[in-house]
Amino acid sequence: MLPLRPNIAAMAGYVPGYQPPDVASWIKLNTNENPYPPSPEVLKAILAELGGDGALLRTYPSASSQALRETVGKLYGFDPAWIIMANGSDEVLNNLIRAFAGEGEEIGYIHPSYSYYATLAEIQGARVRTFGLTDDFRVAGFPDRYEGKLFFLTTPNSPLGFAFPLAYIEELATRCAGVLAVDEAYADFADGNALDLVRKYENVVVTRTLSKSYSLAGMRLGFAVARPEVIAALDKIRDHYNLDRLAQAACVASLRDQAYFGDCTRKIRETREWFSAEIRKLGYEVIPSQGNFVFAAPPDRNGTRVYDGLYARKILVRHFSDPLLAHGMRISIGTREEMEATLAALKEIG
Ligand code: PMP
Repeated sequence: MLPLRPNIAAMAGYVPGYQPPDVASWIKLNTNENPYPPSPEVLKAILAELGGDGALLRTYPSASSQALRETVGKLYGFDPAWIIMANGSDEVLNNLIRAFAGEGEEIGYIHPSYSYYATLAEIQGARVRTFGLTDDFRVAGFPDRYEGKLFFLTTPNSPLGFAFPLAYIEELATRCAGVLAVDEAYADFADGNALDLVRKYENVVVTRTLSKSYSLAGMRLGFAVARPEVIAALDKIRDHYNLDRLAQAACVASLRDQAYFGDCTRKIRETREWFSAEIRKLGYEVIPSQGNFVFAAPPDRNGTRVYDGLYARKILVRHFSDPLLAHGMRISIGTREEMEATLAALKEIG
C-alpha cells in the first residue's frame, strides 16, 4: 500500500462547473465568466512579452510580482507590502488555510457559498464548520466570539448573489478570534466592498480575482489585501514562481485599463438589472444580485425542469442538487443578446 494520507484517500475532490468541449456553440452561463473579451491592452502586452520568438519564456518570471503589487496598490491606495498576487484567488484561499489552520483545527464558512473552502480544508486536514443563513441573509447562529482559525465570508455571496452590509462584516470581524477572510470574487459588480476593514482590523483579509470583472479566468490571476504580517506569512508558503510571465503582463495591462473595466462592469450590471426585472415578470423569484449572476427560481420551484429546458436549447446555467438550492438556478449574466435569447427560451419553456 502506498502511504497516502487518510484524509486524501477519503476525500472526493472538487468538481468545477462543466466546460462543454464545443463551448462556442453554447450560451454558457454556468461559471460566472465575463462575456466580453479582456481589454485590448492585454493582448498587446502578451504579444510584447512573447516578442518575435518567445525568447523571454526561457527565463523565470518575477518571483515577487512586484509590478503587479504596485499596480494593485496604486488602484486601491495600499502599499505593495499589503498585497500578494496569486494564481487565481483559489491559490490564496488555499494558502490562507495552510497558513492559519493546522490539522484538526477549525475553519468556518456559510452554506451555501463557495464549497471549495471545504475541499481545501480537507487537504489540510482541518475541520470544517458550516453556518446557515437567516431569512434576512445574516449568518445563522454565529457565536459572539467565533474561535475557529479562519472564517470565510463570500460577499457578494455565490450562488445567491446578495452582499452583506459593511457594518455587518465589521461586526463579524470583531466577533472572529481568528482571521475573517472576505472573499470578494464578485465585488467589482457590487455597490461596496470591505477594503477599508483591512486598514482597520488586523484579522481581516480581502481576496479578489481578475477572473470575472477583468475577463481573465483563463489566465489565473487573483490577489489578497491584508496587513503586511499576514502577507509575509502567505508569501513564505506560496509557490515561488506562482504567476507566469504572460499572466503578469496581462494583469498589469488589464488593471491599468480602468476605462475598459468600468465599461464592461457597467454593461453587466445594467444587463443584470434588466434581466432580473424581465424574469420577475414571468413569475420568477430573483434574489437582488450584486454579482455578475442571478439566483432565480421559476414559479413551480422546479429548477431541474427549467435547467433541462435551457440545456436542450444549448443554454448552460448552473443547477445545484443541494435541497437548499434545487428550486432555482444560478444564471451568469452574459451579453444583452445572450440574455435576450435566454429570456426567450424561458418564455418558451414556461
Ligand atoms: N471565490 C468565489 C466565491 C468564486 O466563485 C470563485 C470562482 N469560482 C473563486 C473564489 C475563485 O476564483 P479564481 O480562482 O478564478 O480567482
